[in-house]
Amino acid sequence: MAFDTETATAWITAAEAAVKTDEARLTGLDAAIGDGDHGANMVRGLAAGLTNIAERGPTTPGDVLVAAGRGIVAKTGGAAGPLYGSAFRRAGKALGDASSVEAAELGAALEAALTAIKELGGADEGDKTMIDALAPAVAAFQAVAADGGPIAAAAAAAADAAEQGLAATVPLQARKGRASYLGARSIGHEDPGAASTALILRALAEVTA
Ligand code: ADP
Ligand code: MG
Ligand code: MG
Repeated sequence: MAFDTETATAWITAAEAAVKTDEARLTGLDAAIGDGDHGANMVRGLAAGLTNIAERGPTTPGDVLVAAGRGIVAKTGGAAGPLYGSAFRRAGKALGDASSVEAAELGAALEAALTAIKELGGADEGDKTMIDALAPAVAAFQAVAADGGPIAAAAAAAADAAEQGLAATVPLQARKGRASYLGARSIGHEDPGAASTALILRALAEVTA
């Protein structure tokens, strides 16, 4: 199955539903090592992304992701809003004006999203951020795609890798974002942004399965 306008829209729809369902969990993670607003930020951001998609009526998957990113940036405060907003915009731009793309192109778009987050936030793997879920997910997606695997398999591998990356944030000390203010007290908790990234990638796996 190719990734087209309908699938891209279904992805953002499923991601919004997932963060809504898990809003309290995301908030709880952020209450432990941040300021307790990550659940609300993600629900507001993805809802704004969906609204912007509905208003713009994008006709390519790239435009769907750009519209989602612009909606997120416009309506979401905190660190995560600009980071996710740039990530979706950059992924959408990487898809160009194709009406549908295959696994290799979608993998390149996810890599572009990762690069955008790294550039904007200045964090890298091991800093206990969303990058610790997204980086292994991009690598897993691209490994399946490079083997000629379909989008469904690549997305499933990416979601699994993101969930493992999330679990691996527990022993890390935060070096970026609010959680870094806690120093060693940030150890022993999952990173909230890594948790929302895992939800977003699981949503991709679900809509492409
Ligand atoms: P805020 O911390 O401003 O309240 P959120 O609670 O919505 O924003 O988002 C917090 C999450 O953002 C963190 O758990 C982390 O994953 C991510 N984050 C924060 N700073 C950075 C950064 N510089 N680079 C990448 N991700 C970051
Ligand atoms: Mg917060
Ligand atoms: Mg905040």
